[in-house]
Amino acid sequence: MAVNSVHWFRKCLRLHDNPALQEAVNAAHTLRCVYILDPWFAGAANVGINRWRFLGEALEDLDNSLKKFNSRLFVIRGQPTDVFPRLFKEWKVTRLTFEYDPEPYGKERDGAIIKMAQEFGVETVVRNSHTLYNLDRIIEMNNNSPPLTFKRFQTIVSRLELPRRPLPVITQQQMEKCCTKISENHEQLYSIPSLEELGFRTERLPPAVWRGGESEALDRLNKHLDKKVWVANLEHSRINTCSLYASPTGLSPYLRFGCLSCRVLYYNLRELYMKLRKHSSPPPSLFGQLLWREFFYTAATNNPNFDRMEGNPICVQIPWDQNPEALAKWAEGRTGFPWIDAIMTQLRQEGWIHHLARHAVACFLTRGDLWISWESGMKVFEELLLDADWSVNAGSWMWLSCSAFFQQFFHCYCPVGFGRRTDPSGDYIRRYVPILKDYPNRYIYEPWNAPESVQKAANCVVGVDYPKPMINHAEGSRLNIERMKQVYQQLSHYRGLSQLASVPTIQEEAEPPMTDESQTSSGPGKRKPLSRSHMINLSAHLMWNVLRFFFFSDSPPAGGALTEAAGCSILPDSSTLCPTVVTAHQSSDCPQTSAAVTSTSASVNADPLKPPSPCSSSSSPCGTTSPPSTSAQTLTKRKGPAHKIRRSMRQRGHQGAEERREDEEDKGREERMEDDDDENEESMEQDATGEMSGHRQ
Ligand SMILES: Cc1cc2nc3c(=O)[nH]c(=O)nc-3n(C[C@H](O)[C@H](O)[C@H](O)COP(=O)(O)OP(=O)(O)OC[C@H]3O[C@@H](n4cnc5c(N)ncnc54)[C@H](O)[C@@H]3O)c2cc1C
Repeated sequence: MAVNSVHWFRKCLRLHDNPALQEAVNAAHTLRCVYILDPWFAGAANVGINRWRFLGEALEDLDNSLKKFNSRLFVIRGQPTDVFPRLFKEWKVTRLTFEYDPEPYGKERDGAIIKMAQEFGVETVVRNSHTLYNLDRIIEMNNNSPPLTFKRFQTIVSRLELPRRPLPVITQQQMEKCCTKISENHEQLYSIPSLEELGFRTERLPPAVWRGGESEALDRLNKHLDKKVWVANLEHSRINTCSLYASPTGLSPYLRFGCLSCRVLYYNLRELYMKLRKHSSPPPSLFGQLLWREFFYTAATNNPNFDRMEGNPICVQIPWDQNPEALAKWAEGRTGFPWIDAIMTQLRQEGWIHHLARHAVACFLTRGDLWISWESGMKVFEELLLDADWSVNAGSWMWLSCSAFFQQFFHCYCPVGFGRRTDPSGDYIRRYVPILKDYPNRYIYEPWNAPESVQKAANCVVGVDYPKPMINHAEGSRLNIERMKQVYQQLSHYRGLSQLASVPTIQEEAEPPMTDESQTSSGPGKRKPLSRSHMINLSAHLMWNVLRFFFFSDSPPAGGALTEAAGCSILPDSSTLCPTVVTAHQSSDCPQTSAAVTSTSASVNADPLKPPSPCSSSSSPCGTTSPPSTSAQTLTKRKGPAHKIRRSMRQRGHQGAEERREDEEDKGREERMEDDDDENEESMEQDATGEMSGHRQ
């Protein structure tokens, strides 16, 4: 019987190290490579033009490579559940191959396709190639739950065999054994959709900064490795202005779209290290970044709510503010903080920002300044990042916002000092916020502090040509640290853990959290260090707000208003203080039902590589489901914070005893994302004093 293979390209847009494609070719008489995409659905998805363009280029590159083998890529318009039955019949398909998708949504979709294929008598072959390891195996080795500390993850990984070696690129010889039937009207039927077809206007679209495709990825891999040698020779390379710009050695969008195999990167790094270090075995930290990717994939693989707060067993339920206006200012780069605005502008224009820049803007949006949910920030990243990845993006946002994996919440990034240390001359700001280009270095990070004459001479008056800072950072961040402390105190109370051993006392916190605050003013108005009595008042006020949110009101705490004003007040309005209530509930194991925020999901497929679910009960107009993305928050039946925290604790309770013990031992100290990067590798951090240590690029 003739073997007619169809290989379904999804996440691994490459011909090298593609085991599923190798299976498709193996002893096949015919081969067709397909990519499935629904233009209508694509236009409606939360994906920006840069990512679509990158995807288009990656598909074009794939098509060009296949042409060299007298084959072509077939881009099929539609949805997998509708498309495959037609293709199975029309092409007399006997074998369907694709790579294993570890995301919960992907697993569900693939399960339905495999079932459908069985009904048509089509054999399915699925191979792992998007991650280094078999994630289920990691979970199994951790008492059937995903490791929730990176340390634990590394321990488990170190007990596993090395990742499977990458396979070579598909060859002419292999390909000529199976023919691809290409019809004359192939272009008409199966061409790659243009940006216009996807509904984008392209008249004033600047050239792409990142070019998509496997060829570009392999070219970059070589440059990346050259840089590694250079870095290794120099021992240390500090993050500087250059690190902030798109680099020809950057790989994340290519790993995200599978234009580059993570195993190829892994083994190239390994071999390079062994060559440089005379055959000694590389430390796990050499693969730090790749392992972080695996870590988040493992944490997310069985958690369909990984990208949301509600129903997410690993996510601390924090009563974030809802403030669409402040969110829009952040997303559009109108915060009045040049460093933050430059980063958000670069993200929107080019689709990539440096890891530390991601830290800066994520911290600013969430626990640092605006106290807005990480879910909102994640969605903006999802739209704009070329490398936006369901697991890594959500995991990183939870991490940065202290919502999961435990991050020390009293470490905060200063939106003035952090940038200034990285790029003292402010060239980065001049590039992305050109209205400020004529500001002297001294004021470029805090133009509101420039004398009027300087503002006028620079042709940019703050409040007229460039916005005033939307928040007094020193005060806002102090308030938020206190809020976070309240949340963690509650959590710690119910978990009975020693996590708070690492929480500073009020006295300690009364010290400015960032030393650069003492050198620079990052917001308008006078900044006074908080007195002890202020802090206590503040604590009571915060607790009251948190409790009011949970128990009494239909609206979130009023802190949102704080973010509005340039010189926000942190002092509680005494009329809102209710010490009796605070005392009554503060320590309560309060079972009373009150109110909790729950999310409803708008089913928008945010991922151009994610065709909609085949087994959807259809909540979106095109009858699809997708990795659910929360777009609206509704107030429904509420429960008290104690209940939420207990529930969160119970849900977290599925962690193995061993891991909990480790958690306790670690006391959160070593769990900071940055700490795990070896000195040889690129790491970065900013401690409570605002000092940068370690490096990344
Ligand atoms: C709030 C926030 C959101 C993020 N969202 C994403 C995302 O959607 N997709 C994404 O790939 N990375 C994300 N990251 C992680 C990291 O910022 C990027 O992977 C990195 O900046 C990519 O730059 P690079 O190409 O120079 O990668 P390198 O530093 O050269 O690293 C190589 C690869 O390792 C992986 N990697 C590196 N750092 C991390 C990390 N901290 N966590 C997980 N994987 C990592 C990436 O796949 C990357 O391509 C996010 C970080 C933060 C703080």
